[in-house]
Amino acid sequence: MNSPHPPLIGTCRCGDVRFEVSAPPVITAACHCRGCQRMTSSAYSLSAIFPESAFTITAGDPVKRGLQGPDLDHFFCPSCKTWMFTRIPALEGLINVRPTLLEDPAWTRPFMETMTSEKLSWVETPARHSFDGFPPPEDFPSLLEDFARHRDEYQ
Ligand SMILES: [Zn+2]
Ligand SMILES: [Zn+2]
Repeated sequence: MNSPHPPLIGTCRCGDVRFEVSAPPVITAACHCRGCQRMTSSAYSLSAIFPESAFTITAGDPVKRGLQGPDLDHFFCPSCKTWMFTRIPALEGLINVRPTLLEDPAWTRPFMETMTSEKLSWVETPARHSFDGFPPPEDFPSLLEDFARHRDEYQ
């Protein structure tokens, strides 16, 4: 898997909203929950989590849609309605980006998968760590360390 070389450039489907990320991801994930199935109109969502300080909107003005607060805010292009990123207060200092919006999505292999209790029975991912629900917050430090150890395979 080729490593991404920041800055990473992403856009929505219509191109009105553009963003740039100046750091590599701290972890990548797939989420199989019914909410993600509905919001992506697909089998699961993909995430790449970055330091929020490395994330900049360079064009357009994303709007909150989907589920809105208090636990999370989903942001969309106001024009084409692409789901672009999610802010989760519990993940302080981090931002959850839909990595297939990036110019080169080849490296976005999910390192962990969440909500496998709602996974479609025919779906398989290459994730190293699987959770029926979401990983407990105390598991995050060791997950981030494990991702860093296997960085070459997952980005
Ligand atoms: Zn758009
Ligand atoms: Zn989900």
